Amino acid sequence: MRFDTVMRYFLCEKIRSADETFLIDGPDTRHMKNVLRLGPGDMIGLYDGRGMEYTATIETVLPEGIQVRVLSGQPSQGESPLTVTVAQAMLKDRKMDRIVRQLTELGVCEWLPFSSQHAIPKPDQRRLAARSERWKRISREAIKQCRRGRVMKIRPAVSFEKMLDEGQPYDLRVVFYESEPAFLSCESVLTQTGVLRRIFTAIGPEGGFSTAEIEAARAAGFVIAGLGPRILRADTAAVVAVSLLQFLYGDLGQKNLDKTAAIE
Ligand code: SAH
Repeated sequence: MRFDTVMRYFLCEKIRSADETFLIDGPDTRHMKNVLRLGPGDMIGLYDGRGMEYTATIETVLPEGIQVRVLSGQPSQGESPLTVTVAQAMLKDRKMDRIVRQLTELGVCEWLPFSSQHAIPKPDQRRLAARSERWKRISREAIKQCRRGRVMKIRPAVSFEKMLDEGQPYDLRVVFYESEPAFLSCESVLTQTGVLRRIFTAIGPEGGFSTAEIEAARAAGFVIAGLGPRILRADTAAVVAVSLLQFLYGDLGQKNLDKTAAIE
């Protein structure tokens, strides 16, 4: 049933457990009633935004919302076993919006914007708060489409130095640097760190990282890695970096295929 194309998924953060009845209200309900024309007896999927997904059936359609009964719940199948945090140097609005959507789709858990020497936009605090709200909305919209159970956590923007500190508790910290010839190879990383469950990765601004920033990152224990011989746009680099990390250590690669083969 989960992958039945007719079953529609919605984000419903107030859901707590299976076996409960409650009213879905808010902006989604108009779409559910008027566009999808959902009615009593129809099955829907609900994400709680914290990693669980539920199957529910519609009981009644009311003017104030839609009354549903939750039938069953399970951990979301769309979550990667790898916890990835992406630190992104500030870019122009449209690129940041696109990155938030794409990284949500790629299973990133946390997103940390940071200021850096060559970043062009230096937004003030009020504007940053508004942008942060917008990024949260984009991530919430994206999980419905990509069938993830967890919303990407959008952290308040920090300085470059604070960003380096934030990476400290992770199993692996990587800065992707356009002037670095060496790719992030499995061997070079695994010999340093053992099992990788939590990865922190930083992507630079359109203007690139300064050499001082790269040296500070190295001193803070970050691996400096390249993404091949072409310079990618920052928003492309973020997507490529996470795809490769999910391939090497997460749920896009051979390890995941092996797991599937073992179950069948
Ligand atoms: N202005 C710089 C390019 C910056 S690209 C120049 O022209 O040299 C923006 C960011 O994307 C970089 O800071 C880096 O984090 C990432 N990036 C782009 N291409 C990359 C590559 N080939 N290897 C590693 N990182 C790359």
